Amino acid sequence: MSDINIPENTYDAIIVGGGPGGLTAGLYAARADMKVLLLEGNAQASQITMTDMIENYPGVSEISGFELNKTFKKQAVSFGLEIRPEQVDRINRKKSGDVEGWEVITDSDTYRTLSVIVSTGASWSSLGVPGEQEFVGRGISYCATCDAPFYRDREVAVIGGGDTAIQEALYLTKFASKVTVIHRRDRLRAAAILQQRAFANEKITFAWDSTVEKILGEDGVTGVKIKNVKEPGRHEEISVDGVFIFVGLVPNTDFIKEVVNLDNGGYIITDSDMKTSAGGVFACGDCISKSLRQVVTACGDGATAVHSALLHVDELKGQVY
Ligand code: NAP
Repeated sequence: MSDINIPENTYDAIIVGGGPGGLTAGLYAARADMKVLLLEGNAQASQITMTDMIENYPGVSEISGFELNKTFKKQAVSFGLEIRPEQVDRINRKKSGDVEGWEVITDSDTYRTLSVIVSTGASWSSLGVPGEQEFVGRGISYCATCDAPFYRDREVAVIGGGDTAIQEALYLTKFASKVTVIHRRDRLRAAAILQQRAFANEKITFAWDSTVEKILGEDGVTGVKIKNVKEPGRHEEISVDGVFIFVGLVPNTDFIKEVVNLDNGGYIITDSDMKTSAGGVFACGDCISKSLRQVVTACGDGATAVHSALLHVDELKGQVY
């Protein structure tokens, strides 16, 4: 038995974020018998819960993002994970009894912990063109899964050429009569299988080498004005009732930017053990600097983060095996 004093209300780990990375961390931490709390903030708006279909999570042939995340949560809770719907405002270094730990301040409480695992994901980027903010909810959307049914038999545009844009364009064809994908280059970034499906889909057309200049409308969206980036002076107006914007991600790391090192895009820099620049703070999932953001990589990161957090906590408690 160690005689190091650590107050009883101190958690071993607090996980921030309730997506695949955070819930995997929660599952592993609970199974490792850590005293662990997961703070999920606005989990309903997380990326995975807005993904209509996932077909590349091994062992599960086809499932909605919402259902998959629900399964992760149920499994983690079954092993005793405590989850609270609180938004973390900031974390500060704080001693807990004899040991150096962290204070986690949320919108409604303050907690003590020996380690923090950040898994706050990333949010959709906005395009930043005139009309975009004005028509949010009146023709501008960042979630096809949420809003596609409003566009039954109507024409819509999708902006972007990545996995999200093409997957969501395909989903939109279940409702819309025509989907125009507006992309700034002449080739897509999306995975080959998504590209093949999009090219084979008669409802999808492409406006290549084009950027959006303006969203057009009065009470709601009526179209988009685009310009061709290869032919200066060539502008075009496309009539649509809805514009779905999928032009990448912004990491949700604002609350921690003073605590850990971030890369130029605002993603948290970790080593391969998911350690950040701050001792006792680990990170996993879409909020970290890495090359592949998938459910499966977030889960792997989450498991690694807990392994590292556990070693850190054991060291603080003087438990050396
Ligand atoms: P992304 O891969 O960063 O793609 C963003 C797309 O938007 C790119 O085509 C980019 O063009 C375009 N873009 C960026 N800024 C723009 C601007 N200002 N104006 C016009 N176009 C702009 O983002 P994502 O598609 O949301 O994917 C994010 C991550 O999630 C990726 O790692 C992706 O693989 C992953 N994801 C995976 C799946 C899946 O496996 N099924 C599904 C969804 C997302 P350029 O191509 O010219 O850069």
